[in-house]
Amino acid sequence: MRKVYVATNPADAHLLKGALEAEGISAVVQGDFLWNLRGEIPLAPETSPSVWIENESDYDRAREIVAALRMEGGSPEEAGPDWRCDGCGEMNESQYTECWQCGKDRPGLGE
Ligand SMILES: [Zn+2]
Repeated sequence: MRKVYVATNPADAHLLKGALEAEGISAVVQGDFLWNLRGEIPLAPETSPSVWIENESDYDRAREIVAALRMEGGSPEEAGPDWRCDGCGEMNESQYTECWQCGKDRPGLGE
């Protein structure tokens, strides 16, 4: 057994499991039952659903499938890097579409 992926939610984990099995790789999802306890226990890699393959020899292929599904890393809502406002120079987090400081639109949006 070897872990190939830590998912952010059980749906992700089962999606990958299905994709692996479609390629003939035996896979299992572990930890998805802990999902129901989220909020009661801290979320950590150990408490996230993870996908394991049964045969280590499938590992390279499994990683390719993970990459092909663009699930690499499994980080939640990876939205991109912080951006700098070209009005006031303030750094803004990626989820903002306008500067929190001066309200200027994020450069490069809607063009
Ligand atoms: Zn600004």
